[in-house]
Amino acid sequence: MPKTLTRSSALYQEALTCFPAGVNSPVRAFKAVGGQPLFIREGKGSKVTDADGNEYIDYLGSWGPLILGHAHPEVVRKTAAAIEKGTSFGTPHEGEVALARLVKECFPSMELLRFVNSGTEATMSAIRLARGFTGRDIVLKFEGCYHGHSDSLLAKAGSGAMTFGVPDSAGVPGDITRKTLTVPYNDTAAFTAIMEKEGPRIAAVIVEPVAGNMGLVLPREGFLEALRASTAEHGAVLIFDEVITGFRVAKGGAQERCGIRPDLTTLGKVLGGGFPLAAYGGKKEIMEQVAPLGSVYQAGTLSGNPVAVAAGRATLEAILSEQNFYDTLAAKTDLLVRTVGEIFTRRGIPHVINHFASMFTIFFTGGEVFDYQSAKKAQADRYGPFFHHMLERGIYFPPSQFETAFVSSAHTEKDIEATAAAAEKTFTLQEMTWK
Ligand code: PLP
Repeated sequence: MPKTLTRSSALYQEALTCFPAGVNSPVRAFKAVGGQPLFIREGKGSKVTDADGNEYIDYLGSWGPLILGHAHPEVVRKTAAAIEKGTSFGTPHEGEVALARLVKECFPSMELLRFVNSGTEATMSAIRLARGFTGRDIVLKFEGCYHGHSDSLLAKAGSGAMTFGVPDSAGVPGDITRKTLTVPYNDTAAFTAIMEKEGPRIAAVIVEPVAGNMGLVLPREGFLEALRASTAEHGAVLIFDEVITGFRVAKGGAQERCGIRPDLTTLGKVLGGGFPLAAYGGKKEIMEQVAPLGSVYQAGTLSGNPVAVAAGRATLEAILSEQNFYDTLAAKTDLLVRTVGEIFTRRGIPHVINHFASMFTIFFTGGEVFDYQSAKKAQADRYGPFFHHMLERGIYFPPSQFETAFVSSAHTEKDIEATAAAAEKTFTLQEMTWK
């Protein structure tokens, strides 16, 4: 029986009169998959409940932060305790030092860091710092990597921009994006060639070391190593944007997994445990250029907010207190990917499921997905019906082919079985046989 969405529909109609497309961030609008967004009332563990009381197993995880699932008891308890003590001081406080200590232990490359409020702010600040440090203007990024919505980084950005077929945003001066070079992800030869030519003018190379914004795309062997070697050779700052992968793929992020030490790192999402908190940091000599030590300006009224910091600390402490946290999570994700993948294979549905640690994307394509162009070959028009049928059966995947799904420590084997059962049922439907 179709789900009742009366309350969500009414809220959506009203939201349309309040926000552009009724939402406060583009991908929430379900534009890629059609229909109307669900209004979520609450989340607990691996599940969310919508405004009409329908329950879903959630693989969106608020787009990555909720590695412990929704309303983790310790995160709630410690955050509530922090609120009792005041919500913002605009001064240094003990909690931010304790959290920074944890971050530095996990990310030895972050010798000094700054807390900010969003991933966008972290990458924007890191780019400004790299420019200030090198005295150069040009930034090199990779097609399909999304680094937030600051002007310099909205060239060939993935995520929402890719979903809507808007590679660049209106309102960004050409003079700014002309200072951003883009190269296909995983194309070491193209990268090396451009560095040979432009190397001495390049301030920073910014990359998602595991890309999560064109769907999940893994770095090929040698790609990140080439970035490290070439930036070092040409005196450019290498920035690993670990807003998604930081504390997600290992406690030390993708840089721990690949054994590469970037010059600067950006963090967000898991770091804030569901609150607005992010960070940028790296080599001491670079970070010492930040005001008031140096001349690169960056500031924030709510930076290092004590409530967000408490939620982040509680999240990291819960992760670090469990010995096999990441192995367990990866095993669960492997099981999910294998089980769902077998259903597709049995039914002759062309697919590739890219996965890494607790991240995965189902691409409806026959070929390997390793960059922006190959991701675009996936049949996004097949993804929409799949998404809706799964949603109808209580499974909440990301509402776009070009996003990453996340498994949390709250997901159970029972959730995985339910997800597989929903996929099985979906593909018994006449319209989903795809013959
Ligand atoms: N960097 C990456 C890799 C991201 O995935 C995102 C957001 O999805 C950002 C930066 C921007 O973060 P925020 O949405 O917190 O501004």
